[in-house]
Amino acid sequence: MSRLHIFNAGPGVLPGEVTDSAAEAVRGFAGTGMSLLTVSHRSKEWGEVMEETLCLWRELMDLPEEYSVVLVGGGASLQFLLVAMNLLERRAGYLDTGVWAHKALVEARGIGNAYAVASSEDRGYTYIPKGYDIPSDLDYFHVTSCNTVYGTQLQGDMACPVPLVADMSSDILSRRIEVERYAVIYGGAQKNAGTAGVSFAIVRRDVLGRVSRHIPTLLDYRTYIGHGSMFNTPPVFPIFVMNRTLRWLKSIGGVDAVEKVNRRKAAALYAALDSSRVFRPKAAVEDRSMMNVTFEMAPGYERLEEDFIRYARERDIVGIKGHRFAGGFRASLYNACTEQDVAALAEAIKLFDKVNR
Ligand SMILES: *Cc1c(COP(=O)(O)O)cnc(C)c1O
Repeated sequence: MSRLHIFNAGPGVLPGEVTDSAAEAVRGFAGTGMSLLTVSHRSKEWGEVMEETLCLWRELMDLPEEYSVVLVGGGASLQFLLVAMNLLERRAGYLDTGVWAHKALVEARGIGNAYAVASSEDRGYTYIPKGYDIPSDLDYFHVTSCNTVYGTQLQGDMACPVPLVADMSSDILSRRIEVERYAVIYGGAQKNAGTAGVSFAIVRRDVLGRVSRHIPTLLDYRTYIGHGSMFNTPPVFPIFVMNRTLRWLKSIGGVDAVEKVNRRKAAALYAALDSSRVFRPKAAVEDRSMMNVTFEMAPGYERLEEDFIRYARERDIVGIKGHRFAGGFRASLYNACTEQDVAALAEAIKLFDKVNR
């Protein structure tokens, strides 16, 4: 379709074969003679898509039996609420590492007693707090594994004395994780798992049913688990896109294969930034994100910011403007962003640096 190098933060870029397959299903779905947009969600054909999608999650993430995958209409922001509704009884702790982490905490505060165990707000969220204690009486501890806005990422899966809940919106399926370390993993689909309109949660079932509040039907994870995420009409289009995105990931070798490529992509881009004089990366070196690379003009070169956006655009590079809260630049290197895309951006950085230093 396009030769653009797309670095959008979300919705993120999708493989061409995924968008093609979605377009085709809108015209006619699985030999039903109907569009995907009008077919019954109780039809056999749709049931197969749904079942395959849940199986692909299980397979790609190597999920142990005691975990269930649920698909919930809405975004990660709705999961902020579901997590607290389903798990918060006495007290929950949050790691405050940025905009999304903070929003998750605010949402939990509307439900009960939740607080920030540690924060990196003091230095503009450019690092991940370390050396804090997690009290053992928490119902759960919440982390944002990848801070999409600020370009920091937890390196690896932490040991946690209480159930660990992670918002993995921007790094889900980008690297192998030790699922057993988490009680709940959730996120919006539109970064690495499809398009907007659906969110996922991977829930260890034993953490449910421990709270005393009444949970409204559609905010209760058990409703989704009990009905294969089809208690009511599911968002069929984004789930279909998710299905094709997961199929694509499987076809290229799954999470381990894509992780290798993702590591090479991030290394190439950080290398270009580290060797430039005009640009500088923003996140603390040890906390750098593999998915969302944030950078800015180095001191003395600030006036060139708009110039570089234009320079990149001339080279078909789009989506590199930083989040409005963070400024500067951000390149999101999600699974469907290729090594060629990253090479084009790294080259643009090198050339722009050479001309302007
Ligand atoms: C994008 C994002 C969100 C918000 O997702 P919505 O689906 O728009 O609600 C939350 N957390 C993280 C880490 C994100 O990257």
